[in-house]
Amino acid sequence: MLSRRHLLTGATSLAASAAIPRAWAQAPSGPFKLDPLPYVPSKNEPHIDAQTMELHHGKHHAAYVNNLNAALSQNGDWAKMPLHEMLAKLGDMPESVRTAIRNNGGGHANHTMFWQIMGGSGGEPSGELKSVIDRDLGGFQKFQADFNTAGERQFGSGWVFVTVSREGKLAIVTKPNQDTPLMDGQRVLMGNDVWEHAYYLKYQNRRPDYLKAWWNVLDWNRIGERYASAKAGTLTI
Ligand code: MN
Repeated sequence: MLSRRHLLTGATSLAASAAIPRAWAQAPSGPFKLDPLPYVPSKNEPHIDAQTMELHHGKHHAAYVNNLNAALSQNGDWAKMPLHEMLAKLGDMPESVRTAIRNNGGGHANHTMFWQIMGGSGGEPSGELKSVIDRDLGGFQKFQADFNTAGERQFGSGWVFVTVSREGKLAIVTKPNQDTPLMDGQRVLMGNDVWEHAYYLKYQNRRPDYLKAWWNVLDWNRIGERYASAKAGTLTI
């Protein structure tokens, strides 16, 4: 017979694993694959058009995955490492593939996060996440304004992120190209892609309009789950 303690332990770990979406709970190693979008490409209309979603996922993200696998194909030991660990240890990688893994591994991690936090209906965060945004980022409105300003000021291609420390503290961070705070050993709560490929079809040169519209498609339940995962130490990419 199972003891009461055993049953309780089993129930707790089952509940925990069910609550954390697979892509964040696991630390997938290579060869990497392009997961389908978690919703139809028109889900973020009218703020982000379906054609942009299709090209961005099916062409740009797909290329990062293919190029990452090509770079890892001659480096068997590295290929077994979870992506977030690989990105945190770029300095130890063979120089011949370091730049390819930085650009394409970063691209794969960034876009995997990006699709997951969209597909929602915007609004505002609630619960503990709302409290820490108030505490660390000066409230939701100031957070939005500061995040958008950081995205506007990122010269050329790059990303604007919110990082979350193991203690749950939030910070806004920008990175060029496909770099990610994962390369500094940090965790990413959320982030927006300010490469022109993310917005040019609909917004042309109007990056500030895209940055403002993006908040309308966020899924705060998912972002709240990522926050809980980060605090639990299970958030990977
Ligand atoms: Mn992109």
